[in-house]
Amino acid sequence: MVLLNIAEPGQSPLPHQVKRSVGIDLGTTNSLVATVQGGRPNVLPDSQGGCVLPSVVNYSGDHGPVVGSAAIDLAVRYPADTLMSVKRFMGRGKADAAADATRARYRLSDSDQGLVRFLTSAGELSPVEVSADILRSLRDRAETALGGDIDGAVVTVPAYFDEAQRQATKDAATLAGLKVLRLLNEPTAAALAYGLDSSEQGVIAVYDLGGGTFDISILRLHQGVFEVLSTGGDAALGGDDLDAAVANWVLQKTGEPDLAPGEYRQLQALAREAKEQLSTQSSADLDLAGILPEGGVLSLSRNLFEELIQPLIKRTLLACRRCLRDAGLGAGVDNIVMVGGSTRVPLVRATVASFFGREPLIDIDPDQVVAIGAAIQADILVGNRPQGDLLLLDVIPLSLGIETMGGLAEKVIPRNTTIPVSRAQEFTTARDGQTALSVHIVQGEREMVADCRSLAHFELRGIPSMVAGAARIRVTFQVDADGLLEVAAREEITGSETSVTVKPSFGLTDEQITGMLQASFEYAEEDKVARQLAECRLSGWQLLEGLKSALLADGDVLLDANERQVIDAQMTALESLIEGEDAEGIRVQTEILGRLSEAFATRRMDKSVREALAGVSLDELDDEAAE
Ligand code: ADP
Ligand code: MG
Repeated sequence: MVLLNIAEPGQSPLPHQVKRSVGIDLGTTNSLVATVQGGRPNVLPDSQGGCVLPSVVNYSGDHGPVVGSAAIDLAVRYPADTLMSVKRFMGRGKADAAADATRARYRLSDSDQGLVRFLTSAGELSPVEVSADILRSLRDRAETALGGDIDGAVVTVPAYFDEAQRQATKDAATLAGLKVLRLLNEPTAAALAYGLDSSEQGVIAVYDLGGGTFDISILRLHQGVFEVLSTGGDAALGGDDLDAAVANWVLQKTGEPDLAPGEYRQLQALAREAKEQLSTQSSADLDLAGILPEGGVLSLSRNLFEELIQPLIKRTLLACRRCLRDAGLGAGVDNIVMVGGSTRVPLVRATVASFFGREPLIDIDPDQVVAIGAAIQADILVGNRPQGDLLLLDVIPLSLGIETMGGLAEKVIPRNTTIPVSRAQEFTTARDGQTALSVHIVQGEREMVADCRSLAHFELRGIPSMVAGAARIRVTFQVDADGLLEVAAREEITGSETSVTVKPSFGLTDEQITGMLQASFEYAEEDKVARQLAECRLSGWQLLEGLKSALLADGDVLLDANERQVIDAQMTALESLIEGEDAEGIRVQTEILGRLSEAFATRRMDKSVREALAGVSLDELDDEAAE
């Protein structure tokens, strides 16, 4: 007998098959992954509960890359093998990116003139491969959290990214084993997170102050489509500059000491911490022990901090003003969306509110808002929403065209056209008897090809010999939902045809991508094992380093001979395990040593509290408590 499932009236007859989809904010400083679960978007944390993955990858080990905070910890020891801010290099040629590379002190390979490739101990790496490592780490995190393979991802890109930069981002995602449902503009994602797409129409300013960059975008919502009216900003202004302002103040207060690079990095970290505290506190203490020989504590009030950063925040307003003018907006905007960790700074919020004359939206965590919007979009695209939900459309950020006689750029698809789109235009030959035509595809708003971005070249051959102007060549531009372009040229008389999918001039070739993908499948299991080992070694090593310096300082005073002997023996055991290949063994031993040294750590804490209180009478303590 066959038992049939019969649904209650009005209920869905089939169990709803929910697909696993994610939204990814691949940021310059930090990256995040989010998903929609039970109808609600959430950012997915790592095993330690942190949501933000620093976009930093270290390649110093023999066994695969280390991504995130662990990579930052390795940066002091392996500066050249620790790559940060690689997003700045995505889809850019070497000449174009050389200044940025010098500033970041990266060594670039000379083997390929056109492409940016970083030299590391793990060999030459392209920005696409480094980004793929970041994306892979987020994919692993999502698969663990969601309990299975990801069906599709929406990855965000800055609104000003051109074809080459978008293609590079998509390549990185493919390389990381992600199926890209769509690339989405970051400001559009932020607007989506706030559900601004549900209103009829409106003008939205998205103010994004991140770690190293400032972006301002003006969007117009019209019939379910977000149109980017204008973008602007400052590629060299962000939270890092606020940190530097604090660090410079410390240097000035302490008589401009000469710091070693490692000490300066420590000072920067200290400044960053103080800055972040000042978003919620009225003052922050900077403890200079270990940075300056004489140590000391400096206290920074929020008022003084605001004075220090005022000029930087003012600079963002210049870009806002220009962007509003470019958008051709006389009147104000309907909404302001705040994006980026640095918009937590109260002065930033107040300054933006007074500039636009209205309160910005800040309810959604500004670090998370882009990933959340991307997750909502991914959930729709993967098919988890009931039919009828509006699909968000996007627009082409910069006009696409081809080069014609005299180095002029002829636009085939103007900017802000909604995608997907297909447009054709007819061209003819310039010379008598011309049998081949070189098609040069460009992107940009300027009239001269020299001022536009060159995307690709291809040749159409087999044009019958005719007098100039007689041939009819139809060039079709087709842009898919990700904003990626395919161009075809067809000679109408002979029917000869050529087409290219526009790969960026500075991207990877198809063969390179296929090769890397194959390699990543073949080595997936090995890579995973290697990564685990590397991670276990790293945390073991960190514990050992910490313990060594603690023992040096307090080992003789706080431990008796017996205790000391036990800890020493376990440390030696961990050291020799780290030399080996047994990840699980290292993990267990790290745990054992961690537990064994807990009592020692507690004693050290008690001791430092005692020292701090020494000489303070109980009355004084009461006074302080009463304050
Ligand atoms: P990106 O988009 O460039 O990857 P994020 O949006 O993650 O960067 O912003 C990172 C910046 O935000 C860093 O400079 C960090 O110090 C800053 N930030 C994070 N939290 C706070 C806070 N509470 N107050 C001030 N700045 C913060
Ligand atoms: Mg960002």
